[in-house]
Amino acid sequence: MSNTGSANPHDDIAEILIDEAAIKTRVEELGAEIGAAYTGSDSIVLISVLKGALVFVADLMRAIPRNVSIDVMEVSSYGGGNTESSGTVRILKDLSGTIEGRDVLIVEDIIDTGLTLNYLTGYLGGKSPRSIRIVTLLNKPARRLVDLKVDWTGFEIPDKFVVGYGLDFGEKYRNLRYVGVLKRELYASAIGEA
Ligand code: 5GP
Repeated sequence: MSNTGSANPHDDIAEILIDEAAIKTRVEELGAEIGAAYTGSDSIVLISVLKGALVFVADLMRAIPRNVSIDVMEVSSYGGGNTESSGTVRILKDLSGTIEGRDVLIVEDIIDTGLTLNYLTGYLGGKSPRSIRIVTLLNKPARRLVDLKVDWTGFEIPDKFVVGYGLDFGEKYRNLRYVGVLKRELYASAIGEA
């Protein structure tokens, strides 16, 4: 049976994992912690990884009580509509400014296998920043394939495919205000289930 989902994205959600209020509280905490960690730095650049981290970076940057600039990269590690990392990272959009001598904070939506960030930290490290740190809204430690130092994590979540608050499935569900688990029948065919 083919299932393309409902007109209202909320109707395709099996379970709300992290609600809007919990996200708001945690983003405020992360902003305060990050602000405190960069005392003395006036050249912080938040590098957001599109498109999933778009919503998170918009909220996080307003929660950091110091001067920051932003840049965006777009990378693709999953094929459209897929739920498994391919391990191959492609840069779809590179930085627009230089990061040499700057304090880079990579802002990610979710770390799953870690392959995307592992590639990105190597790539950005080659551009001579003063420092590179990582903040991720969500972390799935159970699925990690590479060893990564993550400086700030919003929430550790179980090994479930989640959408909302920027995260998509087939480009949908990014506009949900919460992080939720998609109904299994909607992505079953993408993971090889009947
Ligand atoms: P990694 O390279 O760490 O395996 O994958 C990171 C990327 O995979 C994320 O930036 C995100 O685009 C995607 N991803 C991993 N897990 C999920 C998930 O549960 N839901 C969604 N929507 N994307 C995910």
